[in-house]
Amino acid sequence: MSAVTDIIIIGAGPAGMTAAIYARRAAMSVLVLEAVSCGGQIINTPEIENYPAAAHISGFDFATKVYEQAKELGAQFRFERALSIRDGGAVKTVVTAKNSYDASAVIIATGSRNRALGLENEDRLVGRGISYCATCDGAFFRGKDVAVVGGGNTALEDALYLANIARRVYLIHRRDTFRGEEATVERLRARDNVTFVLNSRVTKLNAGKRLESIVTEDSEGNTRTLDVSGMFVAVGRVPENQPFSDLIELDSAGYAVTGEDCRTKTAGIFVAGDNRTKSVRQLVTATADGATAATAVAAGRLLQTSRKE
Ligand code: NAP
Repeated sequence: MSAVTDIIIIGAGPAGMTAAIYARRAAMSVLVLEAVSCGGQIINTPEIENYPAAAHISGFDFATKVYEQAKELGAQFRFERALSIRDGGAVKTVVTAKNSYDASAVIIATGSRNRALGLENEDRLVGRGISYCATCDGAFFRGKDVAVVGGGNTALEDALYLANIARRVYLIHRRDTFRGEEATVERLRARDNVTFVLNSRVTKLNAGKRLESIVTEDSEGNTRTLDVSGMFVAVGRVPENQPFSDLIELDSAGYAVTGEDCRTKTAGIFVAGDNRTKSVRQLVTATADGATAATAVAAGRLLQTSRKE
């Protein structure tokens, strides 16, 4: 790899790794920087059922296959958190704690992190009854009673997954209709160990060293104590754009404002995946973004080459 890489991709989720595949197929040098581990949030999905031609594959297996594909094509991966980007015009410098890397273009595919409920003791009880990942931690609650909070696809899928492990699952949602897919709601209704707690919010966590029970309050002010030893919070995600906010425009919720071509206000800086403004955040739209952003970088290079000739 030369001193200036063609593209640095920040984040090895489905968007970032698909961008790496498209960039390598366009013969560009590619460095992917990943802060934690490859795969992003999809690795927490027990089973993907809505990605064309890949029904019934676990999120982990899907991510592993995409990673292997990108590696086989020659993308380089380094496990370092990108802390900032310096814009030097034709050369962008991505700074990590240990190094700095130069590139002609940067694709920010950092996705998002879990949103917390903001309750007293919530932080302290993570790993002591509170979890944001049912597939990671569900097995600790075999035969026990648990709650899932949220009404999107993540909460619904978590509740379904936990219904196979826990004795009882309380699905707590602040409204009486769900944001997630009706097909999954129907599957949950068919389970006799799933109880819907609708129009309700969790207002209190009761705990000693570990979570012992939670208090919910419905829209009429009625409270209820649920004796659960586990609470899985699935109330959406917060985009990971802050370190780059000097170079990209953010909307009021923190998402990067881009067109469908993934371009930002700074030439040579692109955003792909769940951390950009869009109406549908799905695996298929994340991978589509990766392809779009890498193709836009390749098109820009072609234009520069033909101008030089
Ligand atoms: P989401 O769709 O944004 O849903 C978040 C849920 O949490 C909503 O029901 C929301 O309630 C609720 N909520 C938000 N803040 C809350 C708070 N402070 N207190 C209580 N409830 C709160 O998030 P997600 O389920 O994580 O899904 C994110 C994206 O990934 C979505 O586009 C989803 O479709 C996608 N996804 C897809 C799959 C799949 O295709 N298999 C799987 C998982 C996720 P309201 O509804 O009242 O706003």
